Order: sequence, then C-alpha cells, then structure tokens
Amino acid sequence: MILVNENYSKLQSSYLFSEIARRVKAYQAAHPDQRVIRLGIGDVTQPLPPACIAALHKAVDEMADPATFRGYGPEQGYDFLREAIAAHDYRARSAAIEADEIFVSDGAKCDTGNIQEIFSQKLRIAVPDPVYPVYVDTNVMAGRTGKFRGGRYGKLTYLPCTAENGYVPDLPAEPADLIYLCFPNNPTGATATREQLARWVNYAREQKALILFDAAYEAFIRDPAIPHSIYEIEGARDVAIEFRSFSKTAGFTGTRCAFAVVPKSCVGYTRMGAAVPLHPLWNRRHTTKFNGVAYPIQRAAEAVYSPEGQQQIAAINDYYLGNARLIRETVASLGYQLTGGVNGPYIWVQTGKDSWKFFDRLLEKAQVVTTPGAGFGSCGKGYIRISAFNSRENVEEALARIRKVM
Ligand SMILES: *Cc1c(COP(=O)(O)O)cnc(C)c1O
Repeated sequence: MILVNENYSKLQSSYLFSEIARRVKAYQAAHPDQRVIRLGIGDVTQPLPPACIAALHKAVDEMADPATFRGYGPEQGYDFLREAIAAHDYRARSAAIEADEIFVSDGAKCDTGNIQEIFSQKLRIAVPDPVYPVYVDTNVMAGRTGKFRGGRYGKLTYLPCTAENGYVPDLPAEPADLIYLCFPNNPTGATATREQLARWVNYAREQKALILFDAAYEAFIRDPAIPHSIYEIEGARDVAIEFRSFSKTAGFTGTRCAFAVVPKSCVGYTRMGAAVPLHPLWNRRHTTKFNGVAYPIQRAAEAVYSPEGQQQIAAINDYYLGNARLIRETVASLGYQLTGGVNGPYIWVQTGKDSWKFFDRLLEKAQVVTTPGAGFGSCGKGYIRISAFNSRENVEEALARIRKVM
C-alpha cells in the first residue's frame, strides 16, 4: 500500500496567493469591464537590466559554438559568479565570506525551503509572525510543527512582529534552535539595525542555535546605517546561513538565480554534542539533488555586478521605491498607520478591520489587489501588504481610486 506523507494534511488550506487569485478571478468574471490593478503578489514588473540581457545573448551564442559550448557546470555555481558575489556583496562590506562558501541556486524559495533537510527532526523552530509562508510550510511537510490549532502550529515558536516592537522580533521566551529572520522584511518592509541583529547573533552563539537570514530584499536598502548582510555583524559567520536572490535585486523572478551562503565556520551538533560543520552537509545535499543553474543565466547574474549592471539595478529599484513613497504618502494622508516602503518594496498598513474584508473592499470598490496580512500569520490580522512592484502609471491610478474609497 502506498502511504502518503500525512504531514501534508496539516498544511493550511490553500497557499495564500492561490486564494487571492481565486477571489480576483471571480471578481473579474463578474465584472469583465473593470480593469484590476495588482499591488498584491511580490513580483517585479520592469524588464531585465540591459547589462544582463547583453550577457545572456553573448552566453547563448557561446552555447552554439563547439569551442565554447558548456554542458554540466559545477553544481555550486561557476567560479566567475561566486567570485563576483564574494567580492561585491561581502568583501566590499567587510564581511569575511569566500567564494567557496557560496552555493548558486535557482531560487531563495527553494533554498530557504530545502535547507531544513540537513537538520534533525527534533529542532525547536522559531519563525517571525507575520512570516514568508515557505519557512513554515516546508517544516510542516517535514513533520516538525505539530498540528494547526487556533491559528498556529503547536510546536513552532512564533516571534511576534508588531507596532510595539517596530516589527523586529524580540528574543524568544522559550529556547529555539533554528531561527528564521528576514530583513528587509516580507511582508512588513521593516529593517533591522546593527544592534538588533547583534542581539540575535549573540543569542545564537549562547544557545548554539542557528539563524537562517533571508536577505532577498537587500538591494532596496538606502539607509547607509542598515546592514545588508548578517555577516556584517561580528560573530555571525559561526551561527548564520544567509539567503540572497537576483529575483527582486535584478528582476530575475522568471529567470531564476539565487544563492545561499554557508560559512565553513558554521556548525551544528550531534546528539552527543559534537560539532559538525554545516558546509559539507549542504554541499552534499546541493550536489546530490541539484545540477546547477544554466550557464547563460549565471552570466546574466554576473553582469549585475558590472558597473553598468549596478547602475541599472539601482535605477530600477529606485523606481520601485518611488512607487513605495507615493503609496506611503497617500495611505498615510488617509489616516492609516503604516510601516515599510523606505528600505524595502512593501508597505504594511494597519487597516483597523479584518484584513480579508479590507482586501475584498479594495478589490470591489477600487479594483486594486493587495495582500491580506492575515495570510502571513496571526500578527498580520488587521493588516494589508501593498507592493510597490508595478508601473508608476498603475500605482498612480490605483492610489487615485483608493483615495476615493478609503
Ligand atoms: C521573493 C522572495 C524570495 C526570493 O525567491 P526566489 O525563489 O529567489 O525568487 C525569498 N524570500 C522572500 C522572503 C521573498 O519574498
């Protein structure tokens, strides 16, 4: 008899975005004449930077010539890309990360979802609330979370991110072994200061815990005082794995390229308390189950670090941040409390109402799609997330409609 993984039955109904898609589709079917503007799902709208397109074309031509054709590449990524990442994202920020500590992959979603495979079943896991659903659902599938009761999984520790703590979680009251953090945050747009991150790094060092640091939105940081990498914090090399992606940084959501950093000094422990380096474990996992990102895509990612590439992504991300500023100003002028949208592309709005009801109202009255905060966790109840990923014209039109109905 073919038994199934019954942990899947503990997953909560539909994935958040499928429920949004269902409601939008139903609305559009009933109102075919209305133009819906999407400020919901976190997907970029601007095309790839010209530097990346040029690198892609060139690499495709190389694949057509027997002298430059490439078959399987190194599973961990080509040295040219790993070196560029180490130099620009880490050494330039005085973070001691070497190229061979970087694992190039096809997405930070996959990486943050897959990483839990190298850890024991019996971990005490802490996740922020609200949370990027991937961190939770992959642990549900693995059987680490217990059942879902009263809006939460019994065996997870939730770290509330609220207006009171500035949406940066406090240290957990009960001990945690594996801690997921995401800054700049999805969905709140909040960032963490050096001091706040240092508190988590010190906690992880004291507890022999590990931080999984998702920095997918690092490229939106404009405040020079905010760290871009957890490795800018002293001691983090021993207790943190970092995830980055070209998806939001450079518009690669449909192109697929990301990376995980597993420092060689990062360790886990056996039940007997012996330290085990994590780098060889992840290397084994990655090389066994993954066969590398396409060569032309890695060349396109490398081009992000060229002087033109850097200029182009800064301009594109400034454009989205310009949208974010307009959203902030309009929503604040209507009397709502909000956060985010300054060093990240999301604006997190306190609606004072049920978040799905508020979502429905914006969809029906303004034909604007947002994301209900409740879909990200209990602490998201009463909030909506507005995304700055859209054209300026669409954002302006959406805000004009919102001004009329809110
Ligand atoms: C978009 C996003 C990612 C990036 O995912 P990819 O698989 O690289 O496209 C990672 N983490 C968070 C929190 C995100 O919002």
